[in-house]
Amino acid sequence: MNLEQQDKKYVLQTYARDYTNFVKGVGSTLYDENGKDYIDFASGIGVNSVGHGNEKLASAICEQAKNIIHISNLQVIEPQAKLAEKIVELSGYDMAIFFANSGAEANEGAIKIARKYGEINFDEKRYKVITLEHSFHGRTITTVKATGQESFHTPHFSPYPAGFSYEKSISDVYKAIDDETVAVLIELVQGEGGVQPFEKKEIQDLAAHLKAEGILLIVDEVQTGVYRTGEFLASNLYEIEPDIITLAKGLGGGVPIGAVMTKHKEVLSAGDHGSTFGGNYLSTSAGLAVLDVLETLYESGAIAEAHLYFEQKLENIVKNYGDLFEKEVGLGLMRGLRAKSSEIQTAVQKQSLQEGLIVLKAGRNTVRFLPSITISKEEIDEGFKRFEKAISTL
Ligand SMILES: *Cc1c(COP(=O)(O)O)cnc(C)c1O
Repeated sequence: MNLEQQDKKYVLQTYARDYTNFVKGVGSTLYDENGKDYIDFASGIGVNSVGHGNEKLASAICEQAKNIIHISNLQVIEPQAKLAEKIVELSGYDMAIFFANSGAEANEGAIKIARKYGEINFDEKRYKVITLEHSFHGRTITTVKATGQESFHTPHFSPYPAGFSYEKSISDVYKAIDDETVAVLIELVQGEGGVQPFEKKEIQDLAAHLKAEGILLIVDEVQTGVYRTGEFLASNLYEIEPDIITLAKGLGGGVPIGAVMTKHKEVLSAGDHGSTFGGNYLSTSAGLAVLDVLETLYESGAIAEAHLYFEQKLENIVKNYGDLFEKEVGLGLMRGLRAKSSEIQTAVQKQSLQEGLIVLKAGRNTVRFLPSITISKEEIDEGFKRFEKAISTL
């Protein structure tokens, strides 16, 4: 039985999977079992923030694994406390953190904090959460319901929890608020929905309005967080101060970790929430190593340089391949090319893989780029050389 047959027989087929078998990665280059190399413009889905085979991350994981991988959360965990302090310090917000294992779990935590906040602070419980169309917040029953895409709310999994509604635009959110609204949950750059950033002014106005109304602003930074858009958090870039922020993807460099941080530190108390694995020695040591690498890179100016370099490459593509792409979208190293059709989007991804380049899809017609934050100019050059070769055949 070959690998593809084995996968098809023993793994539940929930993904439309490609069967290239990668066996090694170095920086932003992956190698398959035949030794063919691929430039990685996807980094998982924005997960391998420090690239593949990063020495600092690998040795932090190895060293930690030799000592303690896990004990329960009934015990204090030193790297967990240190990582919480580091995240709070880098964010600049006066917040405290709960650690989970994924983005969806972090958002579950955010919704729990919001609902309890809505119970203890008002005579009539507030519990409704407003999200946006084209948003993505996870795959658990609750976070999939928080996701503003009807196609995800299939009747297969019903009934879903009540209390979620979706608005077309930020300006529609104002009208949707009622006496039972406790929070608005948004991504500042919609990732899965098509790499669509919101206007800074629009977000700042919304944040001010919500604050005045006593409604919580939850920012889902599962994809935008950890330097993805240029600053440590997209919330920093937008210069807002959310009530609750969630993180996951890039935080562990590939080791599963999620985090929900809030300035409402008193809402949850002992017994309200928990996780067996959340914040264990292994994942939080990985998080510390990742932030160590990325903070240094940020301060050297290298992250900002990589953004500009990547952006210029995309602008050139749009200029030279106007028959395929309408425009480039996104912020920082969270980028997309809006293809003229979903057929083009799919063909571009397929052909890129043929040429040894991994890119992603988002929304209906966006080709998405989420390279590692540590990607080098040489790797960007090589990736775009392959990208041009791929799209020139279309
Ligand atoms: C990926 C993603 C999630 C879900 O994260 P998981 O780790 O897959 O649960 C939630 N929100 C956003 C914005 C994401 O991009």
